[in-house]
Amino acid sequence: MTATVPDFGAIAKSLAFETKAFINGEFVSAASGKTFETINPATGKVITAIAEGDKEDANRAIRAARNAFESGAWSGMAPRDRKAALLRLAALVEKHQAELAVLESLDTGKPVLDAYNADIPDAIATLQWHAEAIDKIYDTISPTSSDIVSMVVREPIGVVGAVIPWNFPLAITAMKIGPVLAGGNSIVIKPAEQTPLTALKLARLAAEAGIPEGVINVVPGFGETAGQAIGRHADVDCLSFTGSTEVGGYFLKYAAESNLKRVILELGGKSPAIVMDDVDDLDPIVEQIAMGILFSQGENCSAGSRLLVHEAMKDRLLEAVIAHFKTWKVGDPFAADTKMGALIEEKHLDRVLGYIDAGRREGASVVLGGNQVLKETGGYFVEPTIFDNVRNDMKIAQEEIFGPVLSTITFKDVDEAVKIANDTKYGLAASLYTNDLHIAHKVSRKIRAGTVSVNCFSEGDQAVPFGGFKQSGFGGREKSLLAHDQYSQVKTIWMQLR
Ligand code: NAP
Ligand code: MG
Repeated sequence: MTATVPDFGAIAKSLAFETKAFINGEFVSAASGKTFETINPATGKVITAIAEGDKEDANRAIRAARNAFESGAWSGMAPRDRKAALLRLAALVEKHQAELAVLESLDTGKPVLDAYNADIPDAIATLQWHAEAIDKIYDTISPTSSDIVSMVVREPIGVVGAVIPWNFPLAITAMKIGPVLAGGNSIVIKPAEQTPLTALKLARLAAEAGIPEGVINVVPGFGETAGQAIGRHADVDCLSFTGSTEVGGYFLKYAAESNLKRVILELGGKSPAIVMDDVDDLDPIVEQIAMGILFSQGENCSAGSRLLVHEAMKDRLLEAVIAHFKTWKVGDPFAADTKMGALIEEKHLDRVLGYIDAGRREGASVVLGGNQVLKETGGYFVEPTIFDNVRNDMKIAQEEIFGPVLSTITFKDVDEAVKIANDTKYGLAASLYTNDLHIAHKVSRKIRAGTVSVNCFSEGDQAVPFGGFKQSGFGGREKSLLAHDQYSQVKTIWMQLR
């Protein structure tokens, strides 16, 4: 890998940004003519100005998506042809992998190598997986008497609105586009205001891949305006949202107050990493715990933010965790040895620091980090932070911090571990570390979360469903063929033969 790492700095200098909304196959200014600035979180400096889409632009994009859907240019295409187009898009993303990684890193503050090695490959794999599935899904004929033909067919749902967060902008956009387009639907995407650059670049590549005009539309802008307009629009059939639990709830209200559109929500989490007292080799566990909470600066919905450890193991484990966290270098996202970049924006930095203060005030002890660092850069960096002596009812154990802050909580036995793990309004993910097969099976069944990984921190790959229990999700599952169910509806055709 090292010999072929692209020169990201040189790419950054020669970048051309897409800055306009992408509606009906064209890049256009906002109807209002307004723009907003997108900021580089590692420097606090403006990257570029972006068209500020609003209700009028959302309406135009939804009209284009509807027209494309009704025209059949995409929805009526043979599945193998849609597959070919999506595979061309995946290939173009791969061709532009380095450039997209640079855009993602500049916009989010994450290490460019993370974007290059994780986010962009994930987007490519997602597009490929759903493309390859399209022409392998069959409808069914139900059992009837011989004078009836009863077909149960899947049809695309129509126009899908997708509202995206800033933490994995391209990967999550691909998670929507893959199954939405595979099923023959059209889409209107509202990227997070902090991170519009890769979605707009993807729109350019989609046009190049031959995806017909109006099938993919991108309306950059703010949630309360553009996002809400899509959520409330009567001609949007389905709204797929990834973001916070609070905003996710607004979309249920928007749907209730407009057209009862289908709503799919992928929301926040407060996921536990549970370490039993039977484990021996701590090194791989400690590495996974670090990945769980430090990868992507902890701005990860499935972050393992609560370390639940057997009381007999705590001192040994915590010592090893602290030592390992010290090897996670925080710094310039373009430096090869940086493992953690900047938090997304100043407001979020203050929020994370506010949680660290709250933890201290409630009596938990900071045993590593706890501070903003690299202030001189103008960026929003926080060091890896570990709290010990946390009780599960403390704010830092109940609320999603979305930063590199780990809360350590002890338990006495398996039952208590499960109880603490489930004592949260969230249920997105959990990790369990044990050498005992019985505990692995039993505990993974008892945890109320959409994904339980055993002896690792993982969401699995494209082939497995992803989504949350409780207030971590609503309405469906992303990834796997279940994602296709979200964007299709089932029709029964009951035919009387004469
Ligand atoms: P957020 O504040 O909920 O924003 C997500 C999106 O919703 C943004 O595009 C935002 O637009 C838009 N939005 C905000 N207010 C809105 C409103 N009133 N009406 C309509 N749209 C609105 O979340 P975030 O801060 O970007 O992302 C962090 C959250 O996402 C965390 O809670 C994290 O756990 C969750 N997340 C979940 C998953 C998952 O798959 N479960 C994955 C990643 C992230 P603006 O640009 O104006 O903010
Ligand atoms: Mg930005």
